[in-house]
Amino acid sequence: MSARLLPVLPGVMQIRGGIVNCYLIADADGLVLIDAGMRADMRRILQAIDASGRALRDLRLILITHADGDHVGCAAQLLAAAWAVGGAARLCVPAGEAAPLAAGKSSRELRAHGLLKVALQLTAKLWAFKPLEFDATLADGELLPVLGGLRVLNTPGHTPGHCSFYADGLGLLFAGDAFKNFGGRLQVSDGMNTWDERAALHSATRLSALAPAVICMGHGPVVQDAAPAMQRVVMAHKLRLEAG
Ligand SMILES: [Zn+2]
Repeated sequence: MSARLLPVLPGVMQIRGGIVNCYLIADADGLVLIDAGMRADMRRILQAIDASGRALRDLRLILITHADGDHVGCAAQLLAAAWAVGGAARLCVPAGEAAPLAAGKSSRELRAHGLLKVALQLTAKLWAFKPLEFDATLADGELLPVLGGLRVLNTPGHTPGHCSFYADGLGLLFAGDAFKNFGGRLQVSDGMNTWDERAALHSATRLSALAPAVICMGHGPVVQDAAPAMQRVVMAHKLRLEAG
């Protein structure tokens, strides 16, 4: 398997794109993709489908955590490609992000200033996405028929309608951008791309309380034995926010 396709658990693979990860699940019912990368990640996602031993027509579901261009880039193209080979893939998005996704917009403004703002303006094309047509919206608490039961959890903060997915039976959490793991440093979503830092902390606390065995994030490596690390960073983040 390529260094960009990393096994997480049997039947679950991390696809490491240039900037963002997505996750491919192969279970008895077919393939499920969690988040859809950037547009440039299409080839890598197709490689992952190949490596799973299944085919594109087995893709049954794409689940999206939030309306950022680095998480939805290949969604429309993958759906079209799967349908073109006889598949019936569906796209499901968080209810709280449905309107911006349908409009082809991120669900919050980035709070960037100075050079960073200029850099983002220069690369805006990379992050842009077209209005998305989806099949259904996901509500908090909904149990999806994936991995024996995948729970939808509303985890606002990074964006207003961000959601995460938790496979209770496996202790496997797909946290989207509620957490990040840059440079081997697990962190709660914060900074200029976070819509509401207090809401992000509240959501991270909710996720940490699940005591997951494994946390899969949009950015950075997967963390095994996740619960103690999550509890530590949530506590440290809380102290930092309280200190102002
Ligand atoms: Zn992201």
